[in-house]
Amino acid sequence: MTSAADAPLTGGCGCGAVRFEIDEPLVTAIYCHCTRCQRRSGTAVGASARIVPGSFRLLRGAEELRRWSPGGGLAKVFCGRCGSAVSANDPDTDEVVAVRMGAIDGDPGVRPEAHQFVAYAAPWEPIADDGLPRFEERLPG
Ligand SMILES: [Zn+2]
Ligand SMILES: [Zn+2]
Repeated sequence: MTSAADAPLTGGCGCGAVRFEIDEPLVTAIYCHCTRCQRRSGTAVGASARIVPGSFRLLRGAEELRRWSPGGGLAKVFCGRCGSAVSANDPDTDEVVAVRMGAIDGDPGVRPEAHQFVAYAAPWEPIADDGLPRFEERLPG
């Protein structure tokens, strides 16, 4: 159950060119330690939240969005002006599957529930000792 989050949730990129709303409470969230998340974010770990399909509404900035679509994964969508990570989209339909938690304004209403791809975790930052389950590869399911 989610609770205190404002509805709709809002968010955007660092420069403000891209703004969005999410009309339904977020479903779940995870930390991802994969190499792609390290590359796309410049950090040790990415935090992303799954959305209810169809609940993401882009308010502005469609023309600024760029996509990195490596094979075998979701397209990584970011602002082409400031580089801020925004969402992970289905590579075929371009439907938003997950949003990057750092792009959300305020409390997203969910907390990461697991660490995935810990086999690839950055050697320079210990994985948080937060008691959450850890998965060597992709979170099952
Ligand atoms: Zn931007
Ligand atoms: Zn990842």
